[in-house]
Amino acid sequence: MALVVLVVAPAFAQAQDAPQRDPAATEVWKPVPAVVATPKDAAPSDAVVLFDGRDLSAWESERGGKAPWAVADGAFTVVPGSKGIRTKRRFCDIQLHIEWRTPVKTQGFDGQHRGNSGIFLQELYELQVLDSYENPTYSNGQAASIYKQAIPLANASRAPGQWQTYDVVWKAPRFAQGGGLVSPARITVLHNGVLVQNDTVVSGKTEYIGAPSYAPHGCAPIYLQDHDSQVGYRNIWVREL
Ligand code: MG
Repeated sequence: MALVVLVVAPAFAQAQDAPQRDPAATEVWKPVPAVVATPKDAAPSDAVVLFDGRDLSAWESERGGKAPWAVADGAFTVVPGSKGIRTKRRFCDIQLHIEWRTPVKTQGFDGQHRGNSGIFLQELYELQVLDSYENPTYSNGQAASIYKQAIPLANASRAPGQWQTYDVVWKAPRFAQGGGLVSPARITVLHNGVLVQNDTVVSGKTEYIGAPSYAPHGCAPIYLQDHDSQVGYRNIWVREL
């Protein structure tokens, strides 16, 4: 009889503890994340491809009409003096992948004049593109800075002529019905795989002179800057969040 009691007692104790000990109690099965295919050397299956190496059909000139930059060898290059280009599509919160390279010829160019372009989220907030490889300039204006607002956490720049990557998570600013700022934009950036902006709070639209501020707006294009340098771009895609 004593043996029976010994066997039953532990089983009873376990049943009493069931909510704490049952691993299933903390399993959450819904919702099920959507399947996203991630083929090697291609955009994820749910991405909006903004440049696949062939044409600038997803882009237009900032002056309206066809994007006037030069497409060749699976990339496109700024045509200095032609003004910037922007996506036809508008975006709010996004994940962005973009690759860029600055010109090999650096002689006679330094500081902000060497390989300058820029990626403007929602047309207003500049993630700086610059040749910051052994090219000193003000820290909040070097590559991967939020121009004149946030210094990157590291300088992960590759040499001129080499392809570089930005992987960006952008959270758009929120505005109240009356136009007041509810929450500022936030940005996370990996430069060549290195974290350089870590959930950085954006102070307002990019200003060359003076302090940034916010004015209400909705979803807006991604804009690429013509800053008189033949900066190249390729492999651009966005995931809307
Ligand atoms: Mg720039």
